[in-house]
Amino acid sequence: MARVFLLTGGNAGDVKRTLQRAQQLINSRVGAVLHCSHRYESEPWGFAAAERFSNQALEVSTDLAPEEVLDAVQEIERELGRNRAAEAIEKASTGARYTSRPIDIDILFYDDAVIATERLTVPHPLLEERLFALLPLCEIARSKCHPVTGRTVGEMLENRKNEP
Ligand code: AMP
Repeated sequence: MARVFLLTGGNAGDVKRTLQRAQQLINSRVGAVLHCSHRYESEPWGFAAAERFSNQALEVSTDLAPEEVLDAVQEIERELGRNRAAEAIEKASTGARYTSRPIDIDILFYDDAVIATERLTVPHPLLEERLFALLPLCEIARSKCHPVTGRTVGEMLENRKNEP
């Protein structure tokens, strides 16, 4: 049994409802949701969009291997309306790296595993840069240590807040 920390988020459609539905599907397919943060709102990161983002961090107890967690969350994203092909077309036409989306699910930590495969990097490589991930994660995992840097989530959040 492993503890996996996920970040759900989105900025298109009925985001509150979509995040609730994502949590239910994660609970039934990935494993029991032990803790979940409030929803945090933030401005879109890396692109211009009208709608603000909502993000929520979840701690899940799972029997799935890391790549199986990725398969499960990508399937949930598809079911909840994420269309990567359409996003790719929009990114190509606007030149943006990110686009609006109804749902995005990232794997932040998987126990203390350090994974770098073609499909999966864990801990999530942008975690330390992203206030929108650190804020909700800190609510449920302030003292969890990054397995490479040894910094706690609380320390990562303080460092990020102190950056210009
Ligand atoms: P995104 O468009 O932000 O959802 O990025 C998804 C891509 O990132 C997928 O193709 C995944 O294979 C890859 N990926 C690598 N590491 C992670 C991770 N820790 N969590 C989620 N997706 C990941």
